[in-house]
Amino acid sequence: MSDTIKKVCVIGAGTMGAGIAAQVANAGVPVLLLDIVRDPNDRSAVAAGAVAKMLKTEPAPFMSKAAAKLVEVGNIEDDLAKVADCDWIVEAIIERLDLKQDLYAKLEAVRRPGTAVSSNTSTIPLGNLIEGRSDAFAADFLITHFFNPPRYMRLLEIVTGPCTDPALAARVEAFSDRALGKAVVRAKDTPGFIANRIGTFWIQVGLNAGFDLGLTVEEADAIAGPPMGVPKTGIFGLVDLVGIDLMPHLQKSLTSTLPADDAYQAVARSHPLIEKMIADGYTGRKGKGGFTRVNREMGKRKESIDLQTGAYREQRRASLPSAAAKDLIALISLEGKFGAYAWAVLGPTLAYSAGLVPSAADTIVDIDEAMKLGYNWKWGPFELIDRLGAAAFAKRLEAEGIPVPELIRIAGDRSFYRIEAGKRQYLGLDGAYHDVVRPEGVLKLADIKLAAKPLARTASAALWDVGDGVAALEFTGKMNALDGDVMKLISQAIPIVQKGFKALVIYNEGKNFSAGANLGLALFALNIAAYGEIETLVSGGQKAYKALKYAPFPVVAAPAGMALGGGCEILLASDAVQAHAELYTGLVEVGVGLIPGWGGCGEMLARWRDMPGMPKGPMPAVAKTFEIVSTATVSKSAQQAKEYGFLRPSDGITMNLDRLLADAKAKALSMVEGYQPPAPPEYKLPGESGHTALTMAAEGFHKRGIATDYDLVVSDSLARILTGGSADLVDTVTEADLLKLERQEFMKRARDSRTLARVETMLATGKPLRN
Ligand code: NAD
Repeated sequence: MSDTIKKVCVIGAGTMGAGIAAQVANAGVPVLLLDIVRDPNDRSAVAAGAVAKMLKTEPAPFMSKAAAKLVEVGNIEDDLAKVADCDWIVEAIIERLDLKQDLYAKLEAVRRPGTAVSSNTSTIPLGNLIEGRSDAFAADFLITHFFNPPRYMRLLEIVTGPCTDPALAARVEAFSDRALGKAVVRAKDTPGFIANRIGTFWIQVGLNAGFDLGLTVEEADAIAGPPMGVPKTGIFGLVDLVGIDLMPHLQKSLTSTLPADDAYQAVARSHPLIEKMIADGYTGRKGKGGFTRVNREMGKRKESIDLQTGAYREQRRASLPSAAAKDLIALISLEGKFGAYAWAVLGPTLAYSAGLVPSAADTIVDIDEAMKLGYNWKWGPFELIDRLGAAAFAKRLEAEGIPVPELIRIAGDRSFYRIEAGKRQYLGLDGAYHDVVRPEGVLKLADIKLAAKPLARTASAALWDVGDGVAALEFTGKMNALDGDVMKLISQAIPIVQKGFKALVIYNEGKNFSAGANLGLALFALNIAAYGEIETLVSGGQKAYKALKYAPFPVVAAPAGMALGGGCEILLASDAVQAHAELYTGLVEVGVGLIPGWGGCGEMLARWRDMPGMPKGPMPAVAKTFEIVSTATVSKSAQQAKEYGFLRPSDGITMNLDRLLADAKAKALSMVEGYQPPAPPEYKLPGESGHTALTMAAEGFHKRGIATDYDLVVSDSLARILTGGSADLVDTVTEADLLKLERQEFMKRARDSRTLARVETMLATGKPLRN
């Protein structure tokens, strides 16, 4: 295998194989996708069908339509020899040892020695997979266990065997990390590896206790959900999501492979109601329904199953005492069945996890990472034990007759994690603390914050020194919303960076880069008709974004997740963007009856004017910008953000979220030498005639019922800006002219009661009002 992986082959085009192939293509790497011949007249139909299906699937496995073109389809009878061109072969066929072994025998004859071969198996030990294969094959073989769906689930468990070449495994790991964006956790060759071993145990004890303690589905999921840092699906909701029929398979696979004294054997149970549900087709969301369902005959009534009687009834929200919803100790100490359920889930699951070091994982960090990434837990098992206190936890285990794992004894009254001299450390089996080491090249603001104080701070933003002469501007408000305090920090940051730094990155580690302008604040101002305040916010934002744009140093925005409205405009104002591949950005202001007011209109016009291949004349760029902004178009990946013009062709994309800050820093530093701020743009805009053309297009949508009455008014405001107001075609429109038009039209819309109604609805329901 060459040093880098330039071509991948995925065999098995089912749920996992197809998704893995799509993610390889998303990384810009060509991939060969093979499956069996099912139709002799259309021999590669299985793989081709899988690609066609993925192009229609939501959430989309492909980050752009262009990525799909990197997938070449074939079948294992005609095309297996093509694996000789591949540097990595991923096997993702059905979970049957005989079929996998048979495939490896064939691969051995055609693959190049040194080509990595990995299995996506969930349950089969590595040793069994390579039985009968040569030493050379065994040296190139490993398990790469992806999670479903492969694009969106960040965890990848890698398992090597005693014969696996460490350098080869390191190459697969590096590619999976950097190109595929996976957070790699090394697991041992034990059943279920880490995440599914603990996850299956946790689900099992959660189901058992739900039935035994007589809880409702809603109560169980409310307890084993957000208070424990688990998504609100809890346990019953998760089983509905992944498929109830999967449970007996997981159970059988683990009970048959785990040793007889493993704690899972004692909790593995089948429940008559679950068996009946599966038999009757109630397999969860993909079936007729599951523990919950939507009853269409009852006007889409949301229902839950009664765990005791098996009858569906209308859902009833479960409410926990507020202290217990926030504090884990209060939760497990609750009197009655709620506290009993919380403990029945947490106690055994955390004890089980503690027993898996070092048999299933080398460190507690690997276990915590696997559960956070594989099951979307906010805290890993050891972080949860720290919240309970290891000593108190041990005491309760003893009181309940649960054996106290060695690792918990070693902890004694200490915590599993601590901060020492600004570094996060974890407790090892040797009883000593060790630094939590990030993979090489990973830089996290969270780590920097442990050891430093901000250079500046306001109520909604902070400025940090992230090393090598680069400062980072972080949004810190709720949903990273933008307000006057963000603008204030921008104005404070500019002289600080100018004096002591080479470049600035705009970055944060929130779930989303920014939800845009603070709508709650806007609603408040609109309700009391504080139009002066609103105008100040608009002009203040314009001024701040312009100051960033023309600052005498490079500014690189590094967004991940959503960057909406004003959050998108700050990307547009930056010199460059280094985006996480999962970027959801757009100018969505029209949804709340407004138009982009912080320079977004002019920036988008310039992007489309300069887009390679645009026809000549002012109108094409205007029409394109109008189309994108008037429909509140949001990208569903960074690649798509390029296609919409929110990002430039030269902007960078980082696949691995953990590497975003380091990449953004590197990009900013690469721009320092000879840096010149951009020249203010000038525009030739079509004026009144262009405005008329856009209005006619909008009226067409109105007639067809696609645009509402107020949509027409809002898009008229937008059209007025984009066409340069009353400018004639020959006039040159400056950036300042456009910003003024933005302010005027923004204020017109702000004063309209229909805008207030839209803002109110958005805040109350999260959905746009179609008035
Ligand atoms: P699937 O049933 O959706 O797809 C399996 C595919 O393999 C099918 O398209 C089938 O035609 C093909 N196939 C069967 N025999 C073949 C052969 N000899 N040569 C080529 N193709 C063959 O299964 P899946 O859910 O994608 O699982 C695939 C593997 O990934 C299994 O080992 C499974 O344990 C593992 N896995 C699954 C998940 C999950 O959530 N589904 C998660 C992690 C790992």
